[in-house]
Amino acid sequence: LDRSQAVFEAAQRRIPGGVNSPVRAYKSVGGTPVHIASGKGALVRDLDGNEYVDLVCSYGPLILGHAPPDVNAAVAAALEKGTTFGAPTEGELSLAEEICSRVGVAEQVRLVNSGTEATMSALRLARAATEREAFLKFNGCYHGHGDSFLVKAGSGALTHGDPDSPGVPRALAALTWVTEYNDIDETRALFERSGDRIACVFVEPIAGNMGTVLPEPGFLEGLRELCDRHGALLIFDEVMTGFRVARGGYAELSAVQPDLVTLGKVIGGGMPIGAYAGRADLMSQVSPAGPVYQAGTLSGNPIAVAAGLATLRKLDAAAYVRLERSGKRLDEGLARIAKARGIPLATGRQGSMLCPYFSNRPVRHFDDVVASDRATWTRFFRAMLEGGVMLPPSPFEAWFLSTAHDDAIIDRVLAAAERAFESL
Ligand code: PMP
Repeated sequence: LDRSQAVFEAAQRRIPGGVNSPVRAYKSVGGTPVHIASGKGALVRDLDGNEYVDLVCSYGPLILGHAPPDVNAAVAAALEKGTTFGAPTEGELSLAEEICSRVGVAEQVRLVNSGTEATMSALRLARAATEREAFLKFNGCYHGHGDSFLVKAGSGALTHGDPDSPGVPRALAALTWVTEYNDIDETRALFERSGDRIACVFVEPIAGNMGTVLPEPGFLEGLRELCDRHGALLIFDEVMTGFRVARGGYAELSAVQPDLVTLGKVIGGGMPIGAYAGRADLMSQVSPAGPVYQAGTLSGNPIAVAAGLATLRKLDAAAYVRLERSGKRLDEGLARIAKARGIPLATGRQGSMLCPYFSNRPVRHFDDVVASDRATWTRFFRAMLEGGVMLPPSPFEAWFLSTAHDDAIIDRVLAAAERAFESL
């Protein structure tokens, strides 16, 4: 990793920590972050010419793999026409229509530039619509780095042992109430005490920022019922799960429908984008239709919209069957080879997002996540990297597959995992 190391050393002088997002640092696993030169399909190549199977997939957006020809062609065509206008374009309507056709609750959509912007904006809208200031989130869920959300916020902060950030005003953080993911009783008790102050419940319907923790039966149903009884809005943060776990996001798989949904990652096909969407009576309160201010110079950017549309158009029912098949093959393969070596492994998975924990108990709560064996995981990470598989450098991040991760690629990952388990 000579070139990665040289670039990283120089970058540390010019970029805080040498990276533009903390999850990319190798602080918790040691060594130098692998610097990428290029990617194609399921593979990436580093600056030193080493090839890896990529299970990071840019933390979720790359559901078609790296540099898919149709998305590249759409981006190239859009580039020819100009990159940004500060005036509306037709593609924005096409993307809004595509989102509304997939997501049940989406009657109107506002495009923004990142997941962080989507959640910040949706929270502002919920506070405005309910005329309440407090809101509820869950321990270990991440909703971007907006001030209100940086409380018990999962993987990034967790990995670096600093769950709350300096610089977040205490007065604001005091309005962020937190209960345990999958603990409806604790949540009910909070609503019974102070439900009339809660503007909304923000939830990752699958908790993907403490690995992959699925909602227990009754949890999301319970949240819907509490929100309805106490006049709060239910917001699904589907920045990670949107169009990842199903054609319409997790809301399609669930009997529970939220009032608003936040999106990002896959809807930009690898370009910077985010969106919030939902009931028309709520979305019509957003400026300029209504008084809730939210704006952006590059919002609805034509290049990002073109990449997103080209990506979504590839994501038909068959694509999700394929993604599920690959996820299952990897999940079952890992379970089989871990069992053969007597290594306790508990894997959370939905379709093509998954997280294997070194743990002998099922992972249902944040406590279970933290109790998993991080030291073994770190050795596993290093062995996988040496074996040509790039995992996210944290035991609390989900792994992502793309439609380019075919059987041969999954088998390559499993062969590397077998060698890695052997070395533990
Ligand atoms: N919400 C969720 C559920 C996320 O997973 C993320 C990013 N991992 C965000 C919000 C923030 O999105 P972004 O990084 O695009 O700001």
